[in-house]
Amino acid sequence: MMPEDILREITGRPEFGGFSYTFAPAPRTEPDRVRELRKLCAENKCGCYGTTWGCPPGSCSEEEAADIVNRFSRTLIVSRRYPMPPADDAKAFEHISREVQNNIRNISVLARSEGLDNVPMGDGGCTYCGKCNYPEPCRYPDRKVISISGMGIDMEKYLGEQGIKFSFEKDAVTLYAFIMF
Ligand code: SF4
Repeated sequence: MMPEDILREITGRPEFGGFSYTFAPAPRTEPDRVRELRKLCAENKCGCYGTTWGCPPGSCSEEEAADIVNRFSRTLIVSRRYPMPPADDAKAFEHISREVQNNIRNISVLARSEGLDNVPMGDGGCTYCGKCNYPEPCRYPDRKVISISGMGIDMEKYLGEQGIKFSFEKDAVTLYAFIMF
């Protein structure tokens, strides 16, 4: 089966319903761009910097990030629109972020089991273990989800290039994640 057919078959299964799936050319990056975006990560507004193997500085070096991103030619963009949780409901937001991350992780694992080399990337740190084992070794490297921005990808710009408007809504939030293959 062709790579996109493998992913089409997997994402068509009932357990992966409720999400939108779009195929697109993979983004490109370079070490300088990774360094630039990682400066924003280091401000640690999300609280994930230096706490999981999915986020810098643990995820990989700037050079490795560019190599990983640039070795793939295609991306499956995964998204889901959720009614906006109340601003003070951090748990609800965490729940939906986790749901999106679990979705791409499960797709990624199944696709690998069918021979498709891929890397799942999401927003924020890897949440598979609840509390990441960082800086001790990753417990489940094949379940790890990597931060998109930490890999030198400006998600808003990239989605715009694909004709996807990344907009903020008052009463809903749309979360995005990628599977690069
Ligand atoms: S799989 Fe577990 S140990 Fe590995 S990066 Fe994710 S949360 Fe951390």
